Amino acid sequence: MSARIIDGKTIAADLRGKVTDAVHRLRRDRGLVPGLAVVLVGKNPASEVYVRNKSKAVTESGIHPFDQHLPENVSEAALLDLIARLNADARVNGILVQLPLPPQIDSQKVISAIDPDKDVDGFHPVNVGRLASGLPGLVPCTPLGCIFLAKTVHASLEGLEAVVIGRSNIVGKPVAQLLLAENATVTITHSKTRDLETVCRRADLLVAALGRPEMVRGAWIKPGATVIDVGINRLAGEVGKDGKKSRIVGDVAYTEAAAIAGTITPVPGGVGPMTIACLLLNTLRAACIQNGLPAPKI
Ligand code: NAP
Repeated sequence: MSARIIDGKTIAADLRGKVTDAVHRLRRDRGLVPGLAVVLVGKNPASEVYVRNKSKAVTESGIHPFDQHLPENVSEAALLDLIARLNADARVNGILVQLPLPPQIDSQKVISAIDPDKDVDGFHPVNVGRLASGLPGLVPCTPLGCIFLAKTVHASLEGLEAVVIGRSNIVGKPVAQLLLAENATVTITHSKTRDLETVCRRADLLVAALGRPEMVRGAWIKPGATVIDVGINRLAGEVGKDGKKSRIVGDVAYTEAAAIAGTITPVPGGVGPMTIACLLLNTLRAACIQNGLPAPKI
């Protein structure tokens, strides 16, 4: 293996430390404590784990948690009513509704009900539009984390040939917009792209967000390229390092790719930890925007 590993855990810990310091200064100098409401509906085990991890990180950073847990059978009207109350509560600077939601609830309707300035997930159509228009706004956490990681390798992304695999609203499209804003030359690919392998081999910077375990092979990588693997795929029936009866792999065949790439993110321990760190950063930024303060330079 020749590639340098991008240590997402350490980079995320550093970012969380910076956010914690900025939150501390905000409280000390302005008497302001940023607040985040994470809304969980029902008992989806994966969502429960995510929310538990988020809540722990929120508390550790000094951000005030306003967590809400609603039953699986809650009505759409009741959830929209809760969102309206959180929108109106000045102590709550960020609102995150954990997806997926149960079938009786229209997720897009719920996302669109969140005040765009409190939309720390960056999924509200207003924030999507701001990002596409190059206007300041709240940006989705995982894509933001990918940019942070890429910038630990390349001080500037300007002029890089960047290829994004995946065009979802939560990862592929926003990461492509962010790369464009950094003046990279961006190609977005998807399941209908012809000769994906050849397109990927052009990439100085390859972002894989397709949700297909280890589909991106070593031969797809341009020698020396930077590879950001967003994929989180649990392979049942295989024992992982932690002894659990499932193994988590990315969308990139790691060992093969690491033999050719210049730098690469591992899975787990790459993009994953950055998502929560960026959620904290977005909450801090939202609190500053709502209180007419300049966003901290992090
Ligand atoms: P998604 O909504 O399922 O979107 C997958 C995208 O990949 C789609 O645009 C799809 O193309 C494309 N795709 C699927 N199969 C393909 C193929 N064979 N060739 C080329 N493109 C293909 O997934 P997502 O929500 O964006 O998530 C992607 C991955 O990132 C998943 O593994 C997910 O678990 C992971 N993830 C990680 C984090 C994190 O914190 N690290 C956060 C979010 C997601 P079409 O549009 O043509 O269908």
